[in-house]
Amino acid sequence: MAGMAATPTKRWGSEEYYGLGYDFDPTFFLTTADRALEEEIIDACERVIRPLAIEADRTGEYPRASIDELGRLRLLAMIAPAEYGCRASSHTQVLMATEAIARYGCPSTAIIFMMHLVAVAGLVFRAKGNPEIESLLRRMDSEALIGTASYTDPETGGHFWYPKTSGAERVADGWHVRKTAAFTTSSGYADWYLTQTTSPDFEGDYADLSVFLLYPDEVQGSPGVWDAMGMHANQSGPVEIDAVIPAGRMVGAPGDGARSNDEAIDPLAFLQYAGAYNGLAMACLDVARRHALRRSHVQYGRRIADYATSQDSYGRALCEAQASRMFAYGMARALDDATDGGDWTMYAEQPDAAPRAAFTCWGLEAKVLAAGLAARVSDQMLQLCGGRGYARAAEIERLVRDAKAGWVMAPSNEVSQGIVGRWALLGPDSVDWWNQHVDERALRNELSKMSAEEKRRLVDELSGELAEPAAG
Ligand SMILES: Cc1cc2nc3c(=O)[nH]c(=O)nc-3n(C[C@H](O)[C@H](O)[C@H](O)COP(=O)(O)OP(=O)(O)OC[C@H]3O[C@@H](n4cnc5c(N)ncnc54)[C@H](O)[C@@H]3O)c2cc1C
Repeated sequence: MAGMAATPTKRWGSEEYYGLGYDFDPTFFLTTADRALEEEIIDACERVIRPLAIEADRTGEYPRASIDELGRLRLLAMIAPAEYGCRASSHTQVLMATEAIARYGCPSTAIIFMMHLVAVAGLVFRAKGNPEIESLLRRMDSEALIGTASYTDPETGGHFWYPKTSGAERVADGWHVRKTAAFTTSSGYADWYLTQTTSPDFEGDYADLSVFLLYPDEVQGSPGVWDAMGMHANQSGPVEIDAVIPAGRMVGAPGDGARSNDEAIDPLAFLQYAGAYNGLAMACLDVARRHALRRSHVQYGRRIADYATSQDSYGRALCEAQASRMFAYGMARALDDATDGGDWTMYAEQPDAAPRAAFTCWGLEAKVLAAGLAARVSDQMLQLCGGRGYARAAEIERLVRDAKAGWVMAPSNEVSQGIVGRWALLGPDSVDWWNQHVDERALRNELSKMSAEEKRRLVDELSGELAEPAAG
């Protein structure tokens, strides 16, 4: 059509990209600067990150060279304010970058990047006036300092906000921090760790949490022990912490942990879960397209792509992917609108500001959609590729294995859906993050099943329990 601007061609090194072009990307959410950055990320993926993804999947090697590329692109501290020499990126830019790393490069590296940026959010949230944090942010990109969020407690599983087996005490020179984490991405490879424990003056309320910054000599990581179905480069091993650290390494004030989760950790985690798993689903569509156009059956003179059943399956998967991507980009736009384009400086003046926390339910929904999408689309695209897709060379089987992690990672899709459903049906208090609200309906229903004798025994037991503190 005369006068219509031609869509730029997506490049893959010196060639045209083999997967879906920009026509199928929601580029209308991106600025010119976002699009230029995306091209740089695709280039880094083609040269370094993708080849290393294939190698690290085979060997379990930690993808250090890929992380150096992220530092070179100034993505490691991308959300930090310009006063630290950082990009001060929007949520949209974070989403685009995470999706691009997973799609064109490596899902394991995208999750390393996610756990890193989630931890950066925890720091940026309380950076102002803390010289240790401000210095780390200033050096993060130039020195490619990779961090991680060491949160999941072995006793409470995917309820990462419930650190039952951790603790911290005030000591003369700072804090004594004790933490056992079941999974920590980059365990033993990270240059710094963000962790959460119950607060120093903890009295039994698990909403009373504090956040700490630690360095490798204070953390016992477990490099090389990660042995899993997929996400091989992720190295999500256990972590043990039993260290005394200086006072300035508490991030925020004592008891700031729940606020940090709501306003910093969760918003970034949900946004990047969406980016990583939508990107992974797109990677499956890309490699399946390449295979479906190359592979033909001589008896019919038809390629896989020529069969109507393939077109239907591909089209259905793409529709589902676009719905999940539009949801994530819509949420990123809403977060940008609520924060003046991704500002993190407001908390210095207004420590209780919570514009990001207002989107918690949307974030959970974005995570559920993307992780579910990746699990389904990776499976469908493997089937579309046939037996040759099952072999490593087609690159889809690695993506199938990596895809499954999204569903089970915290909060798992079951837990997330349960929270969204409870919240929607019964209101936000019903979510009961720390198991504090009594479900009186359930309690009365169980009591109604008891005989008089059973009730008397229960009353005696409860009376004894109530008498105990008085006796003490
Ligand atoms: C690749 C990878 C990287 C990771 N990286 C990190 C990291 O960097 N930092 C970190 O802190 N953690 C990390 N984790 C941990 C992750 O986020 C989860 O905490 C962890 O996978 C939970 O595993 P679990 O076996 O303890 O699950 P469990 O909590 O025991 O869950 C087992 C099953 O029970 C279901 N379930 C649990 N509770 C409920 C409920 N209330 N209602 C209904 N169903 C329920 C779950 O959906 C799941 O199907 C990582 C995990 C993986 C796989």
